[in-house]
Amino acid sequence: MCTFLRVRWTINPRTAPQPWIACSGCGGFKPFSSSGKIRLNANGRKLDAWLIYKCSACDKTWNRAIFERQTVRSLAPAVLEALQTNDVEWIRAQEFDLDALRRKAQRIDEFTDLDIRKQILEEPDGCKALEIELVVAFPVNTRLDRLLASELRISRSRLHTLHDGAMLQIHPDRAGIMKRRIRDGMRIVLDLAGEADGHLVALAAATPQNND
Ligand SMILES: [Zn+2]
Repeated sequence: MCTFLRVRWTINPRTAPQPWIACSGCGGFKPFSSSGKIRLNANGRKLDAWLIYKCSACDKTWNRAIFERQTVRSLAPAVLEALQTNDVEWIRAQEFDLDALRRKAQRIDEFTDLDIRKQILEEPDGCKALEIELVVAFPVNTRLDRLLASELRISRSRLHTLHDGAMLQIHPDRAGIMKRRIRDGMRIVLDLAGEADGHLVALAAATPQNND
């Protein structure tokens, strides 16, 4: 009978993706970073909303259209309210909307600097297994094996061996899952019963690592 140490890792990327845009200020394609500011323009009954980006080299701005020529009535009330209050979470969702960014830019730089908050959900005495659930609200360009290696302090080769031997299970599983991006809702179950350093792995799972 297994008793699980259950933890939740809430993962937040620190740096928003940067699209490469032809800069009219310094010439050539440059990565642009979001200023976090929205510009609204009312034209009669039509509204435009842009997210303002800045060239990383010369600060020239680029206005990324979030929508154009929409009637107020056609917008969801939540969107209108977010625009009126400069809602940082809503703006962050736009900054991490990779599908929308890909329609504007051929190349997008993504970053792997993360904030990881660890919560213990259940902590039995003498745990024999570890269960981690991932909360990933924004797209994160980090491979699962890299995340687990750094946060559990286990080498990637050992992780792959454990996975091949079904001591490490990923839900939902698919081919090459260990090398794929982490996703919201993933569950990782690790059997620690046969691991001499199981208590250290469990400790690492429940405590913050120094990611800087
Ligand atoms: Zn520039």
